[in-house]
Amino acid sequence: MSKSDRQLGMSRDITRRDLIHGMGLAALSLGLPSGVARGQPSPAPADPTKRYYPPTLTGLRGSHPGSFEVAHELALKSKDFDTGEDLGEEYDLVVVGGGLSGLAAACFYRERFGKDSRILILENHDEFGGHATRNEFHQGGAMRLVWGGDFNLEYQAFSEQGNALLTYLGVDIDRLEERNDFNYGSDGRLGPAIYFDAETYGRDVLLPGFTPRWGDFASILGKLDAVPLSPESRDSLKRFYAARTDVLEGRSPEERRQFLRQISYIDFIRQYGGLTEEAADIFYNATHGYWGVGADSLSVAECEGAGLPMAHLLGGEPDTSGSVGGEVVHFPDGTSSLARLLVRALIPAVAEGKGMDDIVTAAFDYSQLDRSESPIRLRLNSTVVHVSETTGAVRVSYVRDGKTTNVKGHSCVLACYHSMIPYLCPQLPAAQREALAYQVRRPLLLTNVLIRDTKAADKLGISGAYCPGRLHGATWLVKGIEVGEYRNSWEDPGPAVMQFWGSVAPVKRGVDIRRQHRSSRMRLLTMDFEDFEREVRTVLDGMLGPAGFSAADEILAITVNRWPHGYAYDYLDLWDPEWPPGEAPHEIARKPFGKITFANSDAGAYAMTEVAIDQAWRAISELQT
Ligand SMILES: Cc1cc2nc3c(=O)[nH]c(=O)nc-3n(C[C@H](O)[C@H](O)[C@H](O)COP(=O)(O)OP(=O)(O)OC[C@H]3O[C@@H](n4cnc5c(N)ncnc54)[C@H](O)[C@@H]3O)c2cc1C
Repeated sequence: MSKSDRQLGMSRDITRRDLIHGMGLAALSLGLPSGVARGQPSPAPADPTKRYYPPTLTGLRGSHPGSFEVAHELALKSKDFDTGEDLGEEYDLVVVGGGLSGLAAACFYRERFGKDSRILILENHDEFGGHATRNEFHQGGAMRLVWGGDFNLEYQAFSEQGNALLTYLGVDIDRLEERNDFNYGSDGRLGPAIYFDAETYGRDVLLPGFTPRWGDFASILGKLDAVPLSPESRDSLKRFYAARTDVLEGRSPEERRQFLRQISYIDFIRQYGGLTEEAADIFYNATHGYWGVGADSLSVAECEGAGLPMAHLLGGEPDTSGSVGGEVVHFPDGTSSLARLLVRALIPAVAEGKGMDDIVTAAFDYSQLDRSESPIRLRLNSTVVHVSETTGAVRVSYVRDGKTTNVKGHSCVLACYHSMIPYLCPQLPAAQREALAYQVRRPLLLTNVLIRDTKAADKLGISGAYCPGRLHGATWLVKGIEVGEYRNSWEDPGPAVMQFWGSVAPVKRGVDIRRQHRSSRMRLLTMDFEDFEREVRTVLDGMLGPAGFSAADEILAITVNRWPHGYAYDYLDLWDPEWPPGEAPHEIARKPFGKITFANSDAGAYAMTEVAIDQAWRAISELQT
């Protein structure tokens, strides 16, 4: 039976309790805003000179209240913003969007045009970094860091320019690797699991050692009797995991390739793996965090990288590697450390120090971000609403605190979401606007929950679990990543972050992929904090409760990072045609327009840090002198 909100601790005032018991003098001396631990939407504090420090804010973060409304008035309600008052500010470059791509663009510009270059970066959130953002918890003792979005540094995919940037910023991959003992709930001291929840499956069942991704098939087979599905579905799972066959035998390599790109993973495991609909559904949201899309909308070929079982039906051996993608390294706060390194390189007054070792713990003074004496300025809470090219310059209007103003740039790099650009810049040719609009980003959701300790998970022998019936498709402890002075080992008995990871299923499956994304986005934006809070409390209670965990007593803070505009749109086998070289929408979308060029991972149609950086480099190299 579902527990009541009261039993789950929904009424607990974790703000006050943790301010008193947890934050302590260390946090107070950092000038952290009060009331940060509880989940109410918490705008960045009003006094930017003393207390403005967004990483400690809890509640609804990511696209937080106050960050997207102006853009939605423009794009969804066609509000006519005037160009606003001319601030008389003039820059060599105005960058729209303070994500990794925008920050890297500013860095590349300065490298190309000289250290005295005057640059303004405009960002609509109360924080810089875009998806590369960090959640910083001080409740319950030692500081715990975790990413609020972008986290894997897939260094092997970095280009020459990307690597040069990493070197310039002092990032040492080998040393990051040495102190990296994190693998998404699949290692550390413990292992992964699958959690069937009572609301969906009738009873709570936690099965360590069984996940819908990778896994030791012999061990999984031994657990299937405990799976809370119908006998027919359990039998189909047994046959599925026991099979060693090649369902495409006799087909040529090219025919196999074509086939695996034309059928969805869910259809494949139903038709060729013999799973019932109910059993196949276990795999549906296992791709959410990895792709931002359910496995019914991805081809078999696409699901291979996400580790979904298939090789045993295609003449191969099951993949038991349990690792995501290629080689990756992490900072404790994900690529937020990269964003911080970039900002510190651009605006040295913001924090002391040099290189990667101290960036994680460096005290950032946000009041230094936008100073008239600095050649480079980063202006937060500023939503750009107009960008127009006039002879030899670009006029950029933005809304801040309800007021529209404008500045002049000799050049402008648009490093914001591409689907927004047609509204900002109606002057662009129609074909380019249409191509820009094609990039409908994938909604993602990443909720970080600080728990008092990991005793219950230790007792159960798990460090994470896949949750096929829940909003977040997976959850895992974030430990084992250390840099510089920052410590958070698996042996540490203190508070820990349980991260919930995934996307939001669309209202209707199977419809056009962009419609799916838009419907998930609207769902994500209309859910309030309590919906997310109830969700994570219910899962933690059901999953860890049998080992003594109390959701009412042991949750110290919750930060929901919702990303309605998450991963850049990359083309999918089942939904997008193959365009001739140079004619794909993102290639048309990023064509320079006078003094305006286009960065952002959207410009590479691939949601990766290295792409965001490469596209920034291209956008700067296309600017005329
Ligand atoms: C939850 C999550 C996890 C991820 N994990 C990884 C990972 O592990 N590894 C990886 O390589 N990639 C990951 N990504 C992909 C990530 O998107 C890229 O790596 C990269 O951070 C994108 O940078 P960007 O600058 O292109 O876009 P963004 O980070 O989206 O930055 C664009 C910025 O422009 C701003 N903007 C938009 N419109 C306006 C406007 N009108 N005015 C002013 N500002 C505007 C936006 O608010 C945003 O801050 C993840 C993404 C998400 C959401």
